[in-house]
Amino acid sequence: MKKKKSIIIIGAGIGGLCSAARLLKEGFDVTIYEKEPLVGGRANRIVQDGYKFDTGPTLLMMTDVLYDTFSYCGKNLDDYLELIQLEPNYRVTFSDHTTITVSSNLPKLQEELKKIDPKAPEQFYRYFSDVAEMYRISRGKFIDKNFDKLSEFISIRSGSKLLSKRGLSKLWNFVGYYFKDERLKQLFSFQSMYLGVSPYEAPAIYSVVSYMETGLGIWYPKGGMYSLSIALEKLVKDLGGKIVTNTSVQKVLIEDKKTTGVLLDNDKIVKSNIVLCNSDLVYSYQKLLPSDLNYKSNFRKPEQLKQASSALLFYFGVDHPLDNMLHHNVYLCKDFKNNLEEIFDSKTLPSDPSFYTYIPTKTDPDLAPKGKNILYILVPVPNLEGNNDWDKGIKTIRAKILSRLKSEYDIDLSKSIKTERVFTPHEFESKFNLTSGSAFGLTHHFLQSGYFRPHNISRKIKNLYFVGASTYPGGGIPMVTLSAKLVVERIIDDNK
Ligand SMILES: Cc1cc2nc3c(=O)[nH]c(=O)nc-3n(C[C@H](O)[C@H](O)[C@H](O)COP(=O)(O)OP(=O)(O)OC[C@H]3O[C@@H](n4cnc5c(N)ncnc54)[C@H](O)[C@@H]3O)c2cc1C
Repeated sequence: MKKKKSIIIIGAGIGGLCSAARLLKEGFDVTIYEKEPLVGGRANRIVQDGYKFDTGPTLLMMTDVLYDTFSYCGKNLDDYLELIQLEPNYRVTFSDHTTITVSSNLPKLQEELKKIDPKAPEQFYRYFSDVAEMYRISRGKFIDKNFDKLSEFISIRSGSKLLSKRGLSKLWNFVGYYFKDERLKQLFSFQSMYLGVSPYEAPAIYSVVSYMETGLGIWYPKGGMYSLSIALEKLVKDLGGKIVTNTSVQKVLIEDKKTTGVLLDNDKIVKSNIVLCNSDLVYSYQKLLPSDLNYKSNFRKPEQLKQASSALLFYFGVDHPLDNMLHHNVYLCKDFKNNLEEIFDSKTLPSDPSFYTYIPTKTDPDLAPKGKNILYILVPVPNLEGNNDWDKGIKTIRAKILSRLKSEYDIDLSKSIKTERVFTPHEFESKFNLTSGSAFGLTHHFLQSGYFRPHNISRKIKNLYFVGASTYPGGGIPMVTLSAKLVVERIIDDNK
């Protein structure tokens, strides 16, 4: 019998787990080494005083890519995970206390939009039909595709279709073409902050995220987002894969410009035919690969690549019903532009933070002790490249958030917090090896999108590949799941 080719995957994030499952199905012998005790990477969990906190991603969209991963492996996602569609999707509260509840139920959304501007429903339908078309074009031509040559990326026909939809303008300008009210412009552009890029810098193509939310729905995996990590871990194990946790890889081993395996943190050498890095791409180039080879990731050196912003997280276990709040809520600050300039340009901590809250216990009370709630708060902040006093800044931001929630709902949460934990960009760096503590990996400006994003294959070292948020198509669970599909297609092609 022919011996199976062995492959080591560095990291059990969503990218590593989805790749492992597909590779096992293709007959590879797969071992994952994960430095942390739990799988899932950024999609992780902290259990404290009976509260189960999801630590990273909270909104699940474009679920077809997950179904596809399971069915590719001959399994059904529904046997591993219960997905619940949220209705409504989320509520946005502006600084003037107006709110809008975003729903995939379009007649309901239309009524909400009317509250802001009577012309808004008509503007929305024009916008929605254009972003739906942009999603359709980019999904087939730009997102779900490996690139070797620039000419493959610039397909004249789809490129000109995207141009006709203003797909290459900046997201903020693009949204302003449809909507006149400042609040509506914010409503349809703030999402890019959660990809770690300012709407003033993001290409308009990222408006597809708002299509993904409204057009494809927002989903919640029962048991919390961490259940997705567990489901993928089970899938890998069911297919015969090995996952070794609490084990960090120190170096990728190379001989004659070919990978030969890895050196673990316990100084043990493990041989393999192929190495796939799910660890952050820039970190992998800078720390796991020999520096003397002067790698260029696609056509730039790793240190020339730009990191996205980050996130400061507060996980509160509260003894409060949190009435009037939904499963997902967004609070935008008074000076939206200044908030973005602080995070993305001057890289200072936000003086008046915008933030997002996630209360999974609204849908799934079992995540907290009886009658209590989980309140997860994500504040977009700069990555660690800025010069900030984090200890002082965290206290100030915490106080400002509690004060904003008091002004919105007249509740004094400080008395109801039973347990709490803060998660900072420093922890993104130390726990998950994310360069500059960027929660979202490489940023998504034009020159780091599509073909221009670092490729998932090394052009200098044979049998070395990359998967995850910092290669293409980009960050977020759906894109990372697709990145696994794309890298596995490459590995299969290279090993035919
Ligand atoms: C706060 C936050 C909120 C988010 N919200 C959303 C959301 O709502 N919806 C959404 O779709 N996406 C969201 N995202 C983005 C999404 O979580 C990420 O894009 C995705 O989880 C990244 O997966 P990955 O596999 O690329 O990398 P990671 O999750 O970073 O996995 C990489 C793994 O490699 C391990 N590793 C690193 N170095 C080594 C080493 N030397 N040896 C062994 N192991 C190593 C790490 O420990 C980690 O487990 C959010 C991210 C964050 C941080």
